[in-house]
Amino acid sequence: MSKYVYFFNEGDAKMRDLLGGKGANLCEMTRLGMPVPPGFVITTEVCVHYAREGAYPPTLDEQVNAALANVEKVMGLKFGDERNPLLLSCRSGARRSMPGMMETVLNVGLCSKTIPGLIEKTRNERFVYDAYRRLIMMYSDVVMEKAEGIEPKEGEGIRDKLESLMAGMKKRRHYSQDTELTAEDLKELCAQFKRTVKEVMGRDFPDDPMEQLWGSVGAVFKSWNGKRAISYRRIEHIPDEWGTATNVQSMVFGNIGETSATGVAFTRNPATGENKFYGEWLPNAQGEDVVAGIRTPNPLNEETKNPQNKHLSSLQSKWPALYRELDDIRTTLEKHFRDMQDIEFTIQDGTLYMLQCRNGKRTGTAALNMAMDMLEEGLIDDRTAVMRVEPGHLDELLHPIVNPDAERKAKPFLTGLPAGPGGAFGKIVFTSVDAVEWTRRGEKVILVREETNPEDVEGMRAAAGILTARGGMTSHAALVARGWGKCCIVGAGEAEVDAESKELVVGLTRLKEGESITLNGTRGLVYQGALAMMDASENPRFQRFMKLADGFRTLGVRTNADTQKDAKVARDFGAEGIGLFRTEHMFYGKGSDEPLFLLRKMILSNTPEERQAAVDELYPFVKRDIKATLEVMDGLPVTIRLLDPPLHEFVPQGEENQAELAKSLGIMPSDVRKRGEALHESNPMMGHRGVRLGITYPEITEMQVRAILEASAELIKAGKRMKPEIMVPVTCDAGELDVTRVIVDRVHDEVRKVTGVDVPFLYGTMIEIPRACLLADEMAKSAQFFSFGTNDLTQMTFGFSRDDIGTFLPDYLKQGLLSADPFETIDQSGVGQLIKMSVDRGRAARPDLKIGICGEQGGDPASVEFCFKAGLNYVSCSPFRVPVARLAAAQANLKHKEAGSRGV
Ligand code: PEP
Ligand code: MG
Repeated sequence: MSKYVYFFNEGDAKMRDLLGGKGANLCEMTRLGMPVPPGFVITTEVCVHYAREGAYPPTLDEQVNAALANVEKVMGLKFGDERNPLLLSCRSGARRSMPGMMETVLNVGLCSKTIPGLIEKTRNERFVYDAYRRLIMMYSDVVMEKAEGIEPKEGEGIRDKLESLMAGMKKRRHYSQDTELTAEDLKELCAQFKRTVKEVMGRDFPDDPMEQLWGSVGAVFKSWNGKRAISYRRIEHIPDEWGTATNVQSMVFGNIGETSATGVAFTRNPATGENKFYGEWLPNAQGEDVVAGIRTPNPLNEETKNPQNKHLSSLQSKWPALYRELDDIRTTLEKHFRDMQDIEFTIQDGTLYMLQCRNGKRTGTAALNMAMDMLEEGLIDDRTAVMRVEPGHLDELLHPIVNPDAERKAKPFLTGLPAGPGGAFGKIVFTSVDAVEWTRRGEKVILVREETNPEDVEGMRAAAGILTARGGMTSHAALVARGWGKCCIVGAGEAEVDAESKELVVGLTRLKEGESITLNGTRGLVYQGALAMMDASENPRFQRFMKLADGFRTLGVRTNADTQKDAKVARDFGAEGIGLFRTEHMFYGKGSDEPLFLLRKMILSNTPEERQAAVDELYPFVKRDIKATLEVMDGLPVTIRLLDPPLHEFVPQGEENQAELAKSLGIMPSDVRKRGEALHESNPMMGHRGVRLGITYPEITEMQVRAILEASAELIKAGKRMKPEIMVPVTCDAGELDVTRVIVDRVHDEVRKVTGVDVPFLYGTMIEIPRACLLADEMAKSAQFFSFGTNDLTQMTFGFSRDDIGTFLPDYLKQGLLSADPFETIDQSGVGQLIKMSVDRGRAARPDLKIGICGEQGGDPASVEFCFKAGLNYVSCSPFRVPVARLAAAQANLKHKEAGSRGV
């Protein structure tokens, strides 16, 4: 018989695939002898089975009953018993933590039969009815509504209706806190709740404990396929096939009175990494209260108090013995897991219970600091330290902060808790949907919410920053934002957020949708207007960490840079060369007027003489640009790509431009228009670009090759080491390479004669057309190196236009047809095959073939790992992603020792 249910003492931390992270760690804490309330885990396999078959495996019932009997035995209580009732919690727990994305039901087992017994036993009627009203709220929302696929309009769900009943009662009684509700109030409220559930849901609230239990278990499993869980999985690249486990555990209560409490804590500070026990707790409360942000939580200890909670007493000062016990557990857990843990605990009537521990989410700064601290403390070795920081996390360390000068001059109009560091400015939007839409339109937005709920995940992802009026440092908004390295401020209590009239009101200040604000997420300060930003300063720890990572790395990391400035930034970030210098970028932006004019002249030339004249005029600009970049790279390899402009983009528009060109070419403006029209292409991406230009107009190739070789010769004469790499784009046949090579060799000879320098160089091609992959052996006979242009290769392999994918990609992602944007991360199953095949065939023909990648995916950690496994020599990416790629490459080495890359 397959085993679907594990009692907490039957599993361990290594079983997270089967038991989920939460379940596996509950088992591990049980094994470590920690005070974990007994319970059992229903495995992820059951979730997968349930999703596929719509029913549970046949023996599940029997196994759950046996495990339940075991819990009853340990607790000395009985589920559904009139006198000694056991209550249970049902929580989700996937292999990887998905905070707040799936469901939980607490207090399962409370019903008309068990309520009187529990009152009798606890002598606390208020507590029992408080627990019951929570059960009704959660169960009706999670099991009766969400799990049934009912999707009410925003604000009209059953939970909203019940919450407004409770708010109404508080208002009538002039209470400000939930805790002021009396036993009588709560009893009346429960009766009202049940009537409303019947009215709205069309059926009675279940009064049978077993029905409640199975309803809750089913709802947890179904929540794996809930909308927000699916969205989160898309963003985090979590496979749909994993499923979630369900943890069924006996309840302990933090809301039994003033000697009870509940809290969440991190064994080190998750925002900064500081080695201080950090957390929040609430007296007389149940778990969800701390993360829901309804009350401002108390600080865990004296030294981590902040301006928002400094007036509240810490657990350390209130119950020193319990705090010490918790602090000991902290030490044991860190020693055992050798990583920062995020823990949940409950104190029931003076006794401490552990409800959860897992590796805590952290900011990039915290990840780096903790890795280096733990290495210095001897808790982890250098390999582990390198694996501890997610490559994507580094982005955040390199990301902007609010310029301190600008900040000094400004005055914050609002303060909150610094939940996600760094700075961000943007226009205020009030809904998740608007955040996504405005961002798609190219606006930078700050998502402002009363409090975020997990439904907001898409908007939070899209926004530049997040601001909420409620919630603590461990609220869901904070956890999720921190995980993504987003600038985020929560619990800005003075803010009134009116999502309906789209206004943010702070005292006398009223800000409407679309007005700009700036967040300093490191300090929790909010400013009006858009303040200047600056790059995070050089961090010596970061340098040390990167050096450590480089010690394990064999895959080279280059950069895509077209200007001296980019090249310099990339070198500072550790780039080992340039993998792609796009010559045509000199025709964009500042200072491009003159070369652009000459390029247009060249494009519109009708005769070889006209064209040669334009090419000659353009030559000094091209040479100057190439030389400047070669100089900055000072001997490091530089791959210079021959021109690859989609010509139609450069055709002059506007009468003034056309007239000027006409004058220069000595023709009529109407002729300029006509020549421009003749260049129009239906599919410019598959048109007259790349090598094809040089096939038609060899003088263009000749000019560029001369610029590259002469610039190099001059630098060599000045005592520099130079070995330029000449790269031919958009090839599909070795013949194209051979024709171009004839020009290269002739010009090389000429340059040698003129300058007296025999410039060493490499000659290679981009691989960006499937036919080139199929013929890679032929291509490699002519090319000394390959560089995968995965932007075009993805475009050509999928037949997806890289410029228009935005219109249909979201549907592919939503419907699960693609798990990620293939222009962001290499499509390993399709495009990846072409890459592997080209590597094999290319190296078979030329064993020392140097191979890199220069498409956008070259800076994506998963793609870097793939490139390492495929045996590439290097990846090349934009300057800011160089450290990300370096770390991803080092981690690839540590993960796949058997594979191998040859290095730069
Ligand atoms: C590519 O196609 O991947 C590439 C790097 O070239 P471009 O983006 O300039 O077409
Ligand atoms: Mg390309």
